[in-house]
Amino acid sequence: MQFSDLGLAEPILKALAAKNYVDPTPIQQQAIPVLLQGKDLCGIAQTGTGKTAAFALPSLDHFARNPMATPVKGCRMLVLSPTRELAAQIAQSFRDYGRFLKLSVEVVFGGVPINKQIRALSAGVDIVVATPGRLLDLIDQRAFTIKDTEIFVLDEADQMMDMGFIHPLKRIAKLLPRDRQNLFFSATMPKEIESLAGQFLHDPVKVSVAPQSTTAERVRQQATFVNQAEKQALLHIVLNNEDIDRALIFTRTKHGADRVVRSLEGAGIQAFAIHGNKSQGQRTTALQAFRQGKVKLLVATDIAARGIDVSGVSHVINFEIPNVPEQYVHRIGRTARAGAEGVAISFVADDERPYLKAIERTTRVKLDIAPLPENFMEAVRNLPKPAAPRKGPEQSPAQKARRVEGQRRYQEGQRGNAERAHRPDGEDGAKRPFRRRRSGVGAHKGAVQRTGAPR
Ligand code: AMP
Repeated sequence: MQFSDLGLAEPILKALAAKNYVDPTPIQQQAIPVLLQGKDLCGIAQTGTGKTAAFALPSLDHFARNPMATPVKGCRMLVLSPTRELAAQIAQSFRDYGRFLKLSVEVVFGGVPINKQIRALSAGVDIVVATPGRLLDLIDQRAFTIKDTEIFVLDEADQMMDMGFIHPLKRIAKLLPRDRQNLFFSATMPKEIESLAGQFLHDPVKVSVAPQSTTAERVRQQATFVNQAEKQALLHIVLNNEDIDRALIFTRTKHGADRVVRSLEGAGIQAFAIHGNKSQGQRTTALQAFRQGKVKLLVATDIAARGIDVSGVSHVINFEIPNVPEQYVHRIGRTARAGAEGVAISFVADDERPYLKAIERTTRVKLDIAPLPENFMEAVRNLPKPAAPRKGPEQSPAQKARRVEGQRRYQEGQRGNAERAHRPDGEDGAKRPFRRRRSGVGAHKGAVQRTGAPR
C-alpha cells in the first residue's frame, strides 16, 4: 500500500512526496482509512511509529475538502500534548504536511508569555496544538474557546496521566462540543487510561501497532553494576570508549541531571540538560542544539524527553534506572528509530537491581552484563571536579542574593582600584598583595609570607 492508494487530497500527497514518504507505516495504514470516514479512533502506539502523520493527514484532508472560516477565538481542530516539546513538534508536522493548504496552525503551552498567544488566537485558528494547563488558562481568561472543535486529539494519554493532568482533561472534556471526531493515542492501555478514553470516545475503532518489545529488539542492551557514587566516573569512560553520534543520558531527578552536566563540564565535555526546572527558552535551545548536532550529549529526565523525535540518537544511557519498566522502554525507544540500530547502556546501583529485574520481565529481554572497565578505579580517583553551578534563572533566592552582594563588593573594589591606579605608586599607602603559602619551603599552619618584598 502507498499513500496514493489512501485517497488523500492532492496537496497532501504533494507534501508527502516532498518529504520522500512513499509507504504509510502500519499505524498510518490502519488509522487513515478509518479517520477519513469520520470515525473515532483509539490507537495504542508509541512515538516513532508515525502516529503524528496518522492523525494529521486525514484531518488535513478533512479541512482541504471542507473549507470554512475559523471560529472567532476558537479552532476547528484541537490536539492535546503532555509536553511543550512534543506540542511544538506536532505543530511543525502539521505545517509540513499542510504546506500546500492554506491553514493556520498555532501551538500554545506554558512557560512563555501568554499575551502573544492571545493575539495569535483572537481571529480563530484551524489547528491548535496545546498543553492542557495553558489551554485552560486561555479559556479561563476568555481568550479562547473550544466549543467549535470538529476534531479532537488526545496524544500520549498515559504520559498525561503520569503528569497528573487527569483533572484538566476532565474539565476539557466538558468544554468540547458533543458533535465531534475524537482520536485518542497512548503507548500503553492500562485500566485507568481505558476509562479516560471512555470519556472522550464514541464507539471507537481500535488499532494497535508494534508491541513495545519490537523497538527493544533492535537495541543492543547492556547493563553494568556500579556504586551510585561512582557512576560519574563510569559515564566518563563510556563516553570515551563508545562511538557516539548522539547520546541521551537519563537521570531520575532534575538535580541529578544538572549534576551530570556539571561533572561532564568539569572534564571539558559539553552537555545540555532538559528538565522541568529549566525555562522554556533553555529547553528549546538545548533541544535545538542537540537536534542540529551542535551538542552530542543531552541529559534529560523522563518527563522532558518523552515523545521527542530526534533522529540519529546512537546511544541511550540510563544513568539511573527507572522504577517503572515501561519508562525504560520509552527511554530506549529514543534510539534505534527509523530502522537504525541503537545501544542502550544502563548503570545499575545495588538498590536498583530489583528495577532491572522488573524491566527484564516486562521486555522479555535479558540485558548483557558488562563488567566495570579495567581502568575504572583509576578513573574514579582522577575524576575531575564538577563545574560550578551555572548562574541563571534556576538559582534559588538565597543564591541570587549572594551573587548580587558579591557583584556589589566586586564593583566597589574595582572603583577603589581604579582610583588608586591613578595615584603615583607608593603614595596611596596600599600594601602590596599578600599571598598565603600553603605548601613548600617555609609553609606551616598560619604562615603568611609577603611576596615581592625584599627578604
Ligand atoms: P512519530 O511517531 O509521529 O513521532 O514519527 C516518527 C518519525 O517517522 C518522524 O520523524 C516522522 O517524520 C517519520 N515518518 C512518519 N511517517 C512516515 C512515513 N510514512 N515514511 C517515512 N517516515 C515517516
